[in-house]
Amino acid sequence: MNHTGILFFPAFDWSLGDSHPEREERLLYTQEQLFEEGIFDLPQIKQFAPRVASLREALRTQALFPTPQKHMDNLDAHLIAAGSAILLGEARVRREITNGFVLARPPGHHSGATVWGNRGFCTLNNEAILVNHLRAQLGIKKIAVVDTDVHHGDGTQDIFYHDPNVLFISLHQDGRTLYPGSGFVNEKGGPNAWDQTLNIPLPPGTGDEGYHYVLENWVLPRLQDFAPDLIINSAGQDNHFTDPLASMNLTANGYGHITELLRPDLAVLEGGYSIEGALPYVNLAILLALAGEDYNHVREPQKLVRPTLSLSVVKPYIQELQKQHQKINPDFTIQTNKSIFPKGNWVYIPHSIYYDTEGFQENRQDYIRQCTHCAGTVYIESRRPPSPRKSVLVRIPFHACSECEQAGYDLWEQLQKPSEDTTTGILQNQLRDNLYVWHKKEGLKVF
Ligand SMILES: [Zn+2]
Ligand SMILES: [Zn+2]
Repeated sequence: MNHTGILFFPAFDWSLGDSHPEREERLLYTQEQLFEEGIFDLPQIKQFAPRVASLREALRTQALFPTPQKHMDNLDAHLIAAGSAILLGEARVRREITNGFVLARPPGHHSGATVWGNRGFCTLNNEAILVNHLRAQLGIKKIAVVDTDVHHGDGTQDIFYHDPNVLFISLHQDGRTLYPGSGFVNEKGGPNAWDQTLNIPLPPGTGDEGYHYVLENWVLPRLQDFAPDLIINSAGQDNHFTDPLASMNLTANGYGHITELLRPDLAVLEGGYSIEGALPYVNLAILLALAGEDYNHVREPQKLVRPTLSLSVVKPYIQELQKQHQKINPDFTIQTNKSIFPKGNWVYIPHSIYYDTEGFQENRQDYIRQCTHCAGTVYIESRRPPSPRKSVLVRIPFHACSECEQAGYDLWEQLQKPSEDTTTGILQNQLRDNLYVWHKKEGLKVF
């Protein structure tokens, strides 16, 4: 018999403010709706209790700067959301369930490889922490993450941008019209993972028909090519026509059909801020679709008011976007004058990341060792102005070749030499699942 897992963690004691869209009662109405509909009485539904992720499980995927300890006061709910994703993901891999839905908050997909605070309501990236846990602990190799939140999943993209074994696909309202302003077709992955990131920016007003067209004609064929061991859906419900933050026109039924088409092994809740008008119905439709039940009767109380783009408009727009996407070729800058780098070609990619919750900018300089054998060692220098001092992440990737592994150790050794301008270093050795945090004053810690 098929089993659909549900893990509910509404985080009733965590919010970003009483009137903030990401507030305590965000999942309250969903919970009531699921009870009313008798979801928990369905024989195929299996409920799971949340668990807390360890700091180590977070650090395996994300570097918390300037030190992990600095975040600990604000991390409880985030660690439970991430731990809950891990718990249900493990249940899926161990075949205790056929698929599942992690209905937890706070969300995570704007949180990237380096973390200085909360951005886009996210501090830890639940799906990314899950993905790397399954690879490190359960030997899963290829995973696809399909992000159907209305906002670009820029944090998840950042974490997996250089990883050829993770296909990241994000469908979202065009970044020219919505936070975080990224996610264009030219963002296709780093030098060792080219074409393993696919961004599909959609025009405001896209509805069910247009969305399903994109899935059937672009997303599903790409997934089939990649043939992942697992598909994870970052399920944001803010494409709904009542969402206060965005301008798309999907219905609860439309979401049910997305789930039916994608057939994710696991859906993990992301955004969705129409907490009475959309979330209860969208979450219900997704659960019914996962459980193989009919979702067509699910109707939200409100009627569509925003104008929807017809398929005759969306279809040529998408076809043109596909053409543009195909034409984009890799164009990377090789760094030649950085003396600390071990031998090899190091590609340089600068970033500037805005933290909207607290209103500051992170400046990043990313370097990736070009490699035809593995994902390549990654070296990231990160600064939070006005401090001129840097915090550094060294990542030796899963399945690293011996040269990239050695390059990672060489960089790590250099980093710990006394210097004026480095505060913290984090070594993510994904190959051996080792984690080290070095701090100028506190010395070296093993996690
Ligand atoms: Zn969102
Ligand atoms: Zn390599």
